[in-house]
Amino acid sequence: MAADQEPSASSAGTFQQAADQLKSAFESRLEALSSQGASPDDGLKALEEIRIQFTGKKSELSTLMASLKDLPKSEKGQAGKTLNLLKRDLELGIKEFKQKLEESKKAAELAREWIDVTLDDTYLASNTRSHRGLGSLHPTTRIQYEIEDVFTSLGFDILDGPHIETEFYNFEALNIHENHPARDMQDTFYLKDGNLLRTHTSTIQVRGMMNNKPPFKVIGPGKVFRCEKIDASHESTFHQLEGMMVDKDIKVAHLIYFMKTLLSRIFDRDDLEVRLRPGYFPFVEPGFELDIRCLICEGKGCSVCKQVGWLELLPCGMSHPNVLRAGNIDPDEYSGFAFGLGLDRLVMMRFQIDDIRHLHSADLRFLQQFP
Ligand SMILES: [Zn+2]
Repeated sequence: MAADQEPSASSAGTFQQAADQLKSAFESRLEALSSQGASPDDGLKALEEIRIQFTGKKSELSTLMASLKDLPKSEKGQAGKTLNLLKRDLELGIKEFKQKLEESKKAAELAREWIDVTLDDTYLASNTRSHRGLGSLHPTTRIQYEIEDVFTSLGFDILDGPHIETEFYNFEALNIHENHPARDMQDTFYLKDGNLLRTHTSTIQVRGMMNNKPPFKVIGPGKVFRCEKIDASHESTFHQLEGMMVDKDIKVAHLIYFMKTLLSRIFDRDDLEVRLRPGYFPFVEPGFELDIRCLICEGKGCSVCKQVGWLELLPCGMSHPNVLRAGNIDPDEYSGFAFGLGLDRLVMMRFQIDDIRHLHSADLRFLQQFP
């Protein structure tokens, strides 16, 4: 078309028509690609072909762009605008589609490469989505941790001690001399070297007194051992938690306060029935038995409470002056209280377990009840 030639009246309209056709062809290609449901990689390849076809050097758009120079000045502006708008639309369409594909590609990669670092092979071997394969804390350990939390919140320190003890720590320092009848009640396993397996966690208390200057508040949880006739409420290996507070002017009221706080927190109820009755323990004076109304039979009587409806839970009392002296503490200046908790009994009450032997049975059917 010569520059001086009169332009056809439909030149601008022809460009508009061509642009509309190209745009709708482009859009139906994208729609077809999107409805194919191809993988992101295949989609990106097909999209590149569409891009070359519609906006590349050999595309219809390029041909139209090139033909602009032949248009008369009066039409160049309008036709150029039409083509530029088309070009912008096509490029934007490609860009948005590409973004979508790249996002789904990334999502697919993340889903494929996701690794749960908390998994171990026990879990994988369990072949189940439940956490059963991971195991869980033994109910006794759980109660022990809970009690430790209660006492640390009350300012107590947690102490540990050896299972194998000397007679001094297990008996003599606790006012239980060689011929004391309490040694019969606490028969234990003796080692050839004269040492023994500790019969109570009170040994931790003795070591605590020797290593701490009053005032102090300590608890000592752990395994203890006795030569027992084993039945529903007696085991040769069980758990205790010892506690002691030493300061000036410590009275029975302090003891009662801490015991009540502990039990209401552990059982999470206010209607717990407890009773305090005089009890004899060589290491306290006065000594008490703190009993709890049996939570398994609600006091009617069962094998765990030996049909009396009450369960001895807590021997406790004011520390005997001889015990304080053995721990290098002057009983004229300081006083204190001590208590021993039977952890296994607490566990049995809390989870309504009717036989202590379940606790050490290592029976998975039992343990799996505490996920
Ligand atoms: Zn009972």
